[in-house]
Parts: sequence; C-alpha cells; structure tokens
Amino acid sequence: MDETVKLIDNQGRRINYLRLSVTDLCNMRCCYCMPESGVAKIGHRDVLSYEQMLTLARHAVAMGIEKVRITGGEPLVRKGIVGFLGELARIPGLHQLVLTTNGLLLEQMATDLRRAGVQRLNISLDSLQPEVFSRITRRGDLKQVLSGIAAAEKAGFPIKINMVVMRGVNDSELADFAALSLEKSYAVRFIEYMPVIKDDNWQSLVLSGEEILNSLARHYSFTQVVSGGLSGPAREFKIAGACGTIGVITPLTGHFCQDCNRVRISASGKVRSCLFSDEEFDLKPVLATGDLASIQAVLRNLVMSKPASHGMTQTSSSHAPFAMSQIGG
Ligand code: SAM
Ligand code: SF4
Repeated sequence: MDETVKLIDNQGRRINYLRLSVTDLCNMRCCYCMPESGVAKIGHRDVLSYEQMLTLARHAVAMGIEKVRITGGEPLVRKGIVGFLGELARIPGLHQLVLTTNGLLLEQMATDLRRAGVQRLNISLDSLQPEVFSRITRRGDLKQVLSGIAAAEKAGFPIKINMVVMRGVNDSELADFAALSLEKSYAVRFIEYMPVIKDDNWQSLVLSGEEILNSLARHYSFTQVVSGGLSGPAREFKIAGACGTIGVITPLTGHFCQDCNRVRISASGKVRSCLFSDEEFDLKPVLATGDLASIQAVLRNLVMSKPASHGMTQTSSSHAPFAMSQIGG
C-alpha cells in the first residue's frame, strides 16, 4: 500500500480498525445501552444503503483499514445482511470481518453467516439467570440466545462472549461466566460498564477491571496470556486447565486510549473518531458523490481529529449522553 494514504492520527496511532453500524434498530432494549423510554429512530431514508457501505469500506481498506466489525443496533435484524457480509468479505485487503450480536437470531442465521465469510462473532450475554437476563435486556429470551451460541459453535465459529458487569445487577455471576471457559474454548470477556446514557447514580454500577479480577481470583487461579495484532484492548487470562480464556476490557480504568486503532461509522453515515467524542462528520453527502478524493479527505480529517483520550474516569465523564445502539457499540 502507498504509505501516504494510510490513516495515521496526530498521536501517531495507526488506524486500521473500522466499526461499522448497519442499523440502529434492535430486538432488545438493554438497560445500559438505551433509556427505558427508547430512542428516536433514524429515518428509513437516512440509513446508508449497503452499496454506500461497500463503497465506504473499499475506500477505508485502501487507506489501511484491515479489520471491520459489523455492529448496530442489532446487525442481524437488517434485511439482506448476509448478502452484504458476503460482498464485504470479498474486499481484497480486508483481513478480518467480525460481527457483534445479541445472539437472538443466531440459531437460524449462524450457518449463513459463516458461509458469507464472517470470521468471528462476539456475542453479548450479561446473565445466565433468566429473570436477570430479561430485566437487563427488557425483552430478551435467554434460551434463544443460548441456542444461538450453540448454533454458532456448530457452524464452526470461535465463540467470544461479552458480559457488561454491573454492580448489584449481575456481578454475582462472574464465576459462572468464567466457568464457561473451562470445558469449551470460549473467550469470555468482562467489560466495565460505561456511562453512555448517564443514568442517575451510574457510578454505583461500575465494577473496575481490578475488582472483577480480584473477585474471580477467589474462585480460580489464572495466568495472563499474550494476545497481539488486531486482537483489541482486552487483557486475557487462562484459568489453570481451561480450554478457553477469560479477559477484562477496561474502558474506564484501563487507559488503553494510547493504543486505540479504531473509528466508527453509524448507520446514517456519521463518523466518530472516538465513541465518547461529541464531534461527528457526516459522510453521507460525500458518499452520494462517490468521489474518491472527497471520501478519503473526510476519513483523513476524522482521524486527525481523534482525541488523545476519552477523558472518562470511574466517577466522571463529560460527553453528552447517547444510546450505544445509535452510534454502534
Ligand atoms: N446488539 C449487538 C449486541 O448487543 O451485541 C451489537 C451492538 S451493542 C451496542 C455492542 C456492544 O456494546 C455490546 O456488547 C454491548 O454489551 C456493549 N455496550 C452497550 N452499552 C454499553 C455500556 N454502557 N457499557 C459497556 N458496554 C456497552
Ligand atoms: Fe440492542 Fe445491543 Fe444495545 Fe442491547 S446492547 S439494546 S442488544 S444494541
């Protein structure tokens, strides 16, 4: 690749990871992602078409993006998603195509997703107890998600499970989640709760990565394993004798911003260089022109505006509240 077109920001960080939201719609209403009252939907005509997303992805890959994560809202609710993923997977130079899902539709879609060329799935699962699960998701069915995970495994996907840990809500289940890595080669990730919607008293929900690890250490002995390349900001560990791994993702306490390699595009074509930056660029008008130089200029400006860090701590954050489903988690 021509070195001059690579996306490198003001801090010298090389941006090679794009999180692309294909819809803001979702078949769940998770309490940490959106307020109970719901969120305004993007107008049907404002959502980027698959064709526009493919154009964008091709230009982004030409500028050094190597990994694309498809997210949402719930990506599997968008009609035609499998065909789109198949096209995306064929873009030369795209090394990793991965997808984040709540798992509700996986039972019927896992095989097609695998055939389309999706390499990995991150499945969000925050409780193994049916009542807690439905309280968190406000409308999810745990059994359906567990069947989805089984189907994904059968289809040949490596399984990664992401649990958002909330004090007093699901933190009593940490050891049960870690146990999922014992017999199967699952990667179980514990994520610090982030104050995206800024509930009153959100600070009381946050359990830091250190607290999570200390709690797990009361049940298991584990050692750190090294992960590299495009594998992301998780610190990974292996419980003695386990087939899989456990890991913590610490957006609040981990200070991994200095290694951040990602940008995000919402389903309506708003690009953000940081999830917690209130600044957005609108790619839709330039995508409509199809002009390569303009699209590349927006991506370059976006990367140059990437803040050095999100500035959030365990007790404070300055961003305007938003729903994760609107931006793309
Ligand atoms: N609907 C899909 C799902 O839930 O996996 C994809 C979109 S969802 C917004 C992407 C990820 O963002 C999920 O793993 C979810 O747990 C995470 N997420 C949403 N709100 C969060 C919060 N307040 N703190 C930490 N993670 C959050
Ligand atoms: Fe939907 Fe995912 Fe948000 Fe839950 S976290 S409401 S599944 S977009």
